[in-house]
Amino acid sequence: MTMPSLPGIVLLGTGGTIAATAPGTTTLTDYTVTQGIDSLLTAVPEINALARLRCSQVFNVESHAITNKMLLKLAGRVNKELSDPAVDGVVITHGTDTLEETAYFLNLTIKSRKPVVVVGAMRPGSAISADGPLNLFNAVLLAASKQAQGHGVLVMLNDRISAARYTSKTHSTQLDTFRSPDQGYLGQVHNGKIHIFQTPTTRHTTQSDFDVAGVKSLPWVDIIYDHQDAGVHLYEASIKAGAQGIVIAATGNGSVSTTVKKGARLAARSNVVCVRSSRVGAGVVSESDADDKLRLVSGNSLNPQKARILLMLALGKTRDPKTIQSYFDQY
Ligand code: ASP
Repeated sequence: MTMPSLPGIVLLGTGGTIAATAPGTTTLTDYTVTQGIDSLLTAVPEINALARLRCSQVFNVESHAITNKMLLKLAGRVNKELSDPAVDGVVITHGTDTLEETAYFLNLTIKSRKPVVVVGAMRPGSAISADGPLNLFNAVLLAASKQAQGHGVLVMLNDRISAARYTSKTHSTQLDTFRSPDQGYLGQVHNGKIHIFQTPTTRHTTQSDFDVAGVKSLPWVDIIYDHQDAGVHLYEASIKAGAQGIVIAATGNGSVSTTVKKGARLAARSNVVCVRSSRVGAGVVSESDADDKLRLVSGNSLNPQKARILLMLALGKTRDPKTIQSYFDQY
């Protein structure tokens, strides 16, 4: 009897705590990114039984250092790998701080139903009870599974399977940091078994309008955080610096404060598109009567950092707030 051949999985390393080492086994912060993707794999030999693996280091940084150019490079690389019939899925190791931004960008720009799983760790590899090895094992298990196909880009940490569209980092240090308070998890991995309970309802991957093949740069978008007694100077600076879009991390339900109103008027005069998101971390920002007058777009349930990702891609197609609103309603 011939054994069915193992799925082909490509592991792409980008850095983060999963690839970091700290001075002592009880030191959970103050680490440095030291390890390449090959050594991460060497630390978890069990993974070799799950798939035929190929590793590649795309970059090796903490995730706050990821730029738009790096996102474009990564999306190009993942699309290229997935177009190879011998590749069944891709796993990307990534720092958790901005993991949700990269995962959501890929969710909108990858042109394949094959699984793409983004994985990180909250504790450096040198720590007692480091979470990276099991997270990586689970990520490869998930990427190699037919069950993971067609759900968009997935995030795997702490045994939880999350949708890139919904999940966010919600705690600065705990292992259970990735959550989506309104939509929940898509599933879980337990004892080497995958359980998927639901699928995201927003458009992604093969249904996405956004294609970054050949794109060399993305439109500049800033995020401005609203608060009590905020000034309009940040809007002035952003517009002057050449931003094409501004995401407002507004208060509550994307409230249009006096400062937001003034900022939006200034932006509209320079054809800069403003999206109202919320700083609260959950919920849908309702569309408002003020939106049309001020050329504002409601960010739906995207937090400010993800709204920035969608606005950059949307501005690559149009500056029309109504069309951009339709993207925020669908993605
Ligand atoms: N500083 C890390 C990063 O690269 C945090 C992490 O990976 O958990 O985002």
